[in-house]
Amino acid sequence: MVSLGPAVPDVQINREAKVHLYPFADYFNGFEKVPIIRKLFGEKTDQILRNLKVEFYSAKFGYMAVSDEDGHLLISAYHLRTADSAIIYLDVVHELHHVKQFMDGKELFLNDFEYVDSPIEIEAYLGTVEEARRIGFSDRQIIEYLKIEWITDEQMERLVERMGLKSPSTS
Ligand SMILES: [Zn+2]
Repeated sequence: MVSLGPAVPDVQINREAKVHLYPFADYFNGFEKVPIIRKLFGEKTDQILRNLKVEFYSAKFGYMAVSDEDGHLLISAYHLRTADSAIIYLDVVHELHHVKQFMDGKELFLNDFEYVDSPIEIEAYLGTVEEARRIGFSDRQIIEYLKIEWITDEQMERLVERMGLKSPSTS
């Protein structure tokens, strides 16, 4: 417990919060058999997914992320409960790219780039778009999937172009 000093004598704060982590495999199965995931992690795929941990948070903001402290997954329990299964699937594929990047010692959050321009995100999105195509998403469906409320139309256009997708407005 940390005290704030004489101005607020009654308040103490415990700054060592416990984070609850669960085995990835308790919630997500079979990803070790997905070709793009095997390509990503190579022969260590099974071991890496067996050791991967996931943390859930109960808020409607955000979807999924990877901790830049230790590389575990963070997932909105609301998103997991309410989104289409294919969306969850692609989100996990996307985040597993970040897990790999973290393991390779890459910085996940690059302040010098806007979200859609970050080489970290482009790499993850390229893999995710490839997988979306493989499971039968059309370009239009992929573009719909890529739409996130915090991305502007202009940023979205850049992302769509970088992903080699045919935007309905240009075709
Ligand atoms: Zn990402």
